[in-house]
Parts: sequence; C-alpha cells; structure tokens
Amino acid sequence: QVIRCRAAVAWAAGKPLSVEEVEVAPPKAGEVRVKIVASGICRTDDHLLEGCFPNGEFPVIPGHEGAGIVESIGEGVTYVKTGDKVILLCLPQCGECSFCLNPESNYCVKSHLASPQNLMPDKTSRFTCKGKQINHFLWLSTFAEYTVIPECAVAKIDAAAPLDKVCLLGCGFSTGYGAAINTAKVKPGSTCAVFGLGGVGLSAVMGCKVAGASRIIAVDINKGKFAKAKELGATDCISPQDFKKPIQDVIMEMTGHGVDYSFEVIGNPDTMIAALASCNVNTGVCIMVGELDAGTTIAIDPMLLLSGRTWKGTLLGGMKLR
Ligand code: NAD
Ligand code: ZN
Repeated sequence: QVIRCRAAVAWAAGKPLSVEEVEVAPPKAGEVRVKIVASGICRTDDHLLEGCFPNGEFPVIPGHEGAGIVESIGEGVTYVKTGDKVILLCLPQCGECSFCLNPESNYCVKSHLASPQNLMPDKTSRFTCKGKQINHFLWLSTFAEYTVIPECAVAKIDAAAPLDKVCLLGCGFSTGYGAAINTAKVKPGSTCAVFGLGGVGLSAVMGCKVAGASRIIAVDINKGKFAKAKELGATDCISPQDFKKPIQDVIMEMTGHGVDYSFEVIGNPDTMIAALASCNVNTGVCIMVGELDAGTTIAIDPMLLLSGRTWKGTLLGGMKLR
C-alpha cells in the first residue's frame, strides 16, 4: 500500500528545498521500494536545484547518493528481496544492452544521458504531495524516507555494511576514485593535478595515491580543503588566488613540462581549460569529471590538443556500478 513519509521537495528552480509529507506508491513490476537510511549530497543535486541539470523537471525530490533497505518488491523482481541492504546506483546496469555487455563500458543505454529519468521507466511517478505529482531524479530521489527505483538501479550489499558510509559508493567516491584508476589509468611514479577538492575531487586524490602517483598537486580556491587533501595523499596544495599568473603556468613551472594526468572536478569552463593546459603538451591526459550547466559550450585553442594531449570525460569513474 501507499506509504506516507517525509521528503525534501524542490518545488521550483532556485527555491530552497522544503520538507513535506509525501505519498510513495507501491513498486510496480520490475521496481523496488527502498527505505532510505543514508544519503550523501553531491554538487549534481545543486545543479538540479539551480535548474542547470539537463532535462531536470520540477517539482522534484533530488538526491542520488543513497543506501537503504528494501521495503517491498514489485512483480517479477528476483535480484533483491525485502530486508536486503542496497546501494542505489546513479548509473543503472540493465546487464542486457550492448554497452552493459561490453566489458570496457560502464554506460547503460537506460542511463539518464540516453533518456531523462524524471519519471519511472513506464513514464509515471510514484510520488505525490499535496495532490500534485512529483518528479523523480535519476530514478533515485534519495532525499525521501522511502523511494521507488527500477531493479536495475540497485546493488545488493553485505548485511554488515555501514549504510552511512557506503552510500558514497553510489556516486561521489566511485566517480573520483574511478576517474584516476579506470579512466586515466594513472601509472606508478607519475604526476597528477586535481582541480576541485569536494567529495569527488578528494576521491580522485585517493585514486591517484593508490595508483602510485609520486606527486599529486591539489588545486582549490578554498584553502580549508587542503588539510584533508594532504591527509589523503596530496603532496602540494595551491590556490589560484595566490598567483598573478594563470594556474596552468604555475603547474608548468612546478613540474617542468606539466603533469602526466590532470582532473577537472569542479564543473567550470575556465578550470576545464586550465586543467587541460596543465598536463604534458604531448603525452598528458586530462579527465573532465565536473559537470557544466546544461547548454554550456567551451571554446578551445586546438593547439592544446594538436600536440598530442588527450582530453577525456568520465561518467561515474568508468565503474560498472553493480
Ligand atoms: P563540490 O562543490 O563539493 O566541490 C567543488 C570544489 O571545487 C570545492 O571545494 C570548491 O571550493 C572548488 N572550486 C570551485 N570553483 C573553483 C575554482 N574556480 N578554482 C578552484 N577550485 C574551485 O562538488 P563535488 O560534489 O565534489 O562535485 C564536483 C563536480 O563533479 C560537480 O560538477 C559535479 O556535478 C560533478 N560530478 C560528476 C560526476 C560524473 O559522473 N562525471 C559524478 C558526480 C559529480
Ligand atoms: Zn544496459
């Protein structure tokens, strides 16, 4: 039956979230209803709230970094049962499409970049509030005490897993760590620069460290992030605001020819170019992790790439999430 519980609802772009009583319908065929125990907050939720997430629709329940316990299952669900602990997946894994079957790919054709996930796959919502239909976000909507998601967007986990920690595997940690390990494939002894030290950027620092990087330059305008970055493996921490010259010139001077791998984990066109220009002019690899506002384009001097650099993006750090 319908569950009444609390959820943080965004009624319109640019407006603060408001905690409301909502109704959560039972799961339909192929869906699961999950009691959310913990949810992280990622900058992507903020992009949605600002109205800058591609195809985001209001009113909506945001949140996409959750872990919880299966409350009930819809018809035909075999992967999980009531009581199982699960992590919700930002990138579904249907296991059947050509991308899911490709071991090199972590992108499922059912993901939000292929078609918006404002509603469940049958194009209806499981949430109502004050008589209005509320949109889902990425099929997850973890800022609710209960949510309904497709079976392909959960991963069953160990019953002993601490949900308040493992929820970060659903997006932020997997993205940053995987960007270093899977997408860049950082080599031992190499040099790295990470732009942006939020949850995702700090996870990229951890990935570089585990991959054996000898130097990890962490870049942020908020120096309050430096202590944590050093604890996790950064060898140098710099703020662009402390220099008159562009930060890419500073990094060139620090390293001689630029770093081997750079990561943009902010979501800003200027820092995307700075990160690209900070890596070695010939063999450097720059990974774009940050998300730009929907519709933003970047003008680049093609010489930045002509000399051999590689510029790549990553979705969820190349992880097959399940
Ligand atoms: P966050 O807001 O917690 O961290 C961003 C950091 O960048 C902050 O520490 C901030 O001080 C710093 N910063 C802002 N402007 C700067 C500038 N001009 N120069 C240097 N530092 C600057 O964000 P987060 O949750 O870590 O997410 C980071 C980005 O990654 C976001 O754009 C988010 O949408 C994106 N993201 C992408 C994926 C993916 O699959 N590619 C997944 C999750 C998040
Ligand atoms: Zn798939």
